[in-house]
Amino acid sequence: MTHMILRIERIGTELPPPSDPDPAGAAAVQELMGGRYGEMSTFMNYTFQSFNFRGRQGARPFYDLVANIATEEFGHIELVAATINGMLTGTAEDGSLSAMKGEDLKQRWIHGGAGALPQDAHGRAWTGDNVFASGDLVEDLTHNYFLETHARNNKLKVYEMVEHPAARALTGYLLVRGGVHQVAYARALEHLTGANMSKLFPSPRIPTDRIPECRPHLDAGSHKILYRFSPSDYQELAAVWNGPHPETGEELVVEQGPPEGALPHDMPPQTATFAPDYAPEEIAEISRKLRVAAGLPEEPTGEVANDGGGMVEKVTP
Ligand code: MN
Ligand code: MN
Repeated sequence: MTHMILRIERIGTELPPPSDPDPAGAAAVQELMGGRYGEMSTFMNYTFQSFNFRGRQGARPFYDLVANIATEEFGHIELVAATINGMLTGTAEDGSLSAMKGEDLKQRWIHGGAGALPQDAHGRAWTGDNVFASGDLVEDLTHNYFLETHARNNKLKVYEMVEHPAARALTGYLLVRGGVHQVAYARALEHLTGANMSKLFPSPRIPTDRIPECRPHLDAGSHKILYRFSPSDYQELAAVWNGPHPETGEELVVEQGPPEGALPHDMPPQTATFAPDYAPEEIAEISRKLRVAAGLPEEPTGEVANDGGGMVEKVTP
């Protein structure tokens, strides 16, 4: 059961349901998806570093750290997409598409179905050139530390730029989790070289305890927990993720299994972009018949946070 990815249909944290559409805000959030310091970059950096890791048995604590954080980053991509999709809901219902012609990132409706794209805030495609996997462990870890540092810088700016509650919930969560990864790579470098990384980059010292959307995650202790994203592997994380948290002094903890997370919202169809079809009710009926024919329950078995019936009333953050 090695070299496999286990997928669980949960998102890392609860997001508010789709409410007021915010296509301009969603464009800013795209930087956290496909920007150079976005989640696709953190995911692919650590993924390629772990795939290409030589001498992993001899360097097991560091291999386990990089491979495990890569897995968490995959979930962050899904969370950013869920945020963007919620913010674009209501922008492409029947009859509303013409209002989108003034938007900067028109491909989201023309090529896509009012959804997230693997692009940055200017619509430029994410590129593998963003991946640094040199094979040199100290260089890779130093790159990762800076990647997490600047990624948090970007998240704070998106937080301040976009008031939409989904964007705020996303950035509040990712600021806390990014802080964990920042500390993890700092600790790895400290253990490996003796260098005091926390002194190397004085910024951004982000006061997450003053950000309302960070508070619930801090109260839950998320800032000191590294989740082990495997039923039995990556045990040697604990050899790196230990000691006091550099900001709070609390003991760092490895927790078995992914965070509990939250159910995703079923994003309502946006028929003007044919997502999932010009007549989604026909697909739903075909699906129902297929379920019955296969001996499955007539009603859908998957779990979502809402009934998928359409727009939810305006939410308060
Ligand atoms: Mn991340
Ligand atoms: Mn990260």
